[in-house]
Amino acid sequence: VERLPHVVVIGAGFAGLNAARALRDAPVSVTLIDARNHHTFQPLLYQVATAGLEAEEVAYPVRGIFQKQRNLRFLMARVTGIDLPEKRIRLDTGVTVTYDYLVLAAGAISADFGVAGVSEHALTLKTLDDAVRMRGHIIRQFELADANPGLIQHGALHVVVAGGGPTGVEMAGALIELFDHVLTRDFPAIRRDDMRVTLVENGGRLLAPFHAALSESARRALERRGVTLRFNDGIAGVDAGGVTLKSGERISAQTVIWSAGVRANPLASLLGVAQTRGGRLVVKDDLSLPDHPEVFAVGDIAAGAAASGGAYPQLARPAMQSGTHAARQIERRLHGDAPQPFVYHDPGTMATIGRNDAVVQFPIGLRLSGVLGWLVWVFLHLMMLVGFRNRLNVFVNWAYTYLTYDRGARLTQVPALNTLRSRNGTAA
Ligand SMILES: Cc1cc2nc3c(=O)[nH]c(=O)nc-3n(C[C@H](O)[C@H](O)[C@H](O)COP(=O)(O)OP(=O)(O)OC[C@H]3O[C@@H](n4cnc5c(N)ncnc54)[C@H](O)[C@@H]3O)c2cc1C
Repeated sequence: VERLPHVVVIGAGFAGLNAARALRDAPVSVTLIDARNHHTFQPLLYQVATAGLEAEEVAYPVRGIFQKQRNLRFLMARVTGIDLPEKRIRLDTGVTVTYDYLVLAAGAISADFGVAGVSEHALTLKTLDDAVRMRGHIIRQFELADANPGLIQHGALHVVVAGGGPTGVEMAGALIELFDHVLTRDFPAIRRDDMRVTLVENGGRLLAPFHAALSESARRALERRGVTLRFNDGIAGVDAGGVTLKSGERISAQTVIWSAGVRANPLASLLGVAQTRGGRLVVKDDLSLPDHPEVFAVGDIAAGAAASGGAYPQLARPAMQSGTHAARQIERRLHGDAPQPFVYHDPGTMATIGRNDAVVQFPIGLRLSGVLGWLVWVFLHLMMLVGFRNRLNVFVNWAYTYLTYDRGARLTQVPALNTLRSRNGTAA
């Protein structure tokens, strides 16, 4: 029997899932590899970190997503090496996998931009584990301060958010809601005035990629909620007691959330091929690597083109569109058809600031903020969630939280996620 071409997809994020799915009817066998056994819906991680949603509501088991896709096999393993000339991938399980076509979709990681102390003392928000850790950390600070109020003057209840992009803005807004509606009730002995959020932004405004009017609307919304904003100042260092700003100012804070930016997954640097600023892989217009037509790079790890010029933004939509495009190109290659260029079509960008408040910007120039923006945000995020069951779960939980202001998941410890890892698998 003739062997089907083997397509390996690295990463079950937005890009990898869409690439793998788009190959469901293609005459290929697909191996999808991810270090975790679930897809993470990163846009809602901040809800997990602030106890608004439970971890399982923003993650979905990869095997569940692909139960019906006969030509796909899932491997839970971390990729540790890629040999482009030999078309071979090394896994942390000790297994090597060979491919005919490779789709690299390993995403991005938090970038500390060389700021001292970030990796030791700041919390990042990229994975489900990060979100659960952040939630536990924040609630633990409240428990500690309740037991020993002297800790408050050392910043036990002060959260510093680094970066005024969408993630920083969302985090700051959600923290205020957690304080106002949950922690003030859980901790009646703690004064609301002692719970503080400070957001530090290098530039002069929030949400830099958005229209200035929406930046302004986000600024007003956060200030109205009591967030302290610092513009034109950056974080020079993080330590066990808080942060030091570039201006020299010192802020005591036991929680520092680093949401200042991302860089491409370090796998990109292992390939020895061209990378842009931020480590993103340089791709040809069909999303394949120069000199390696059988390798495609999609989503946050790559720098494919946007219709507006330059690389597409590191967001969910371009990841999904680029993943699907790479799959189509592999099919065309198999049929001997010429490659097609990829151009990202922007359906709009948004960021939420809190209950009833979000900013949305459509490419045609339409801008929304406030309640209307929030309704559009809710609708589009639910549409994007993977799997019907999940979507319904999240919606029901949200509706409940919305109506009652009660937030369920606020344990300081939960059992470790992802414990099972096979050590002796075999692969094609
Ligand atoms: C907190 C947060 C909020 C966000 N909010 C929004 C938003 O509101 N709207 C929006 O459009 N975008 C948002 N984004 C960005 C969006 O989530 C990303 O652009 C998108 O996830 C990129 O998709 P991807 O498939 O390239 O990578 P990812 O979704 O990151 O997936 C990469 C996958 O690769 C796996 N992987 C990584 N390294 C390895 C390895 N060595 N071996 C095996 N597997 C590996 C990972 O486990 C992961 O499953 C947000 C991101 C974050 C972190």
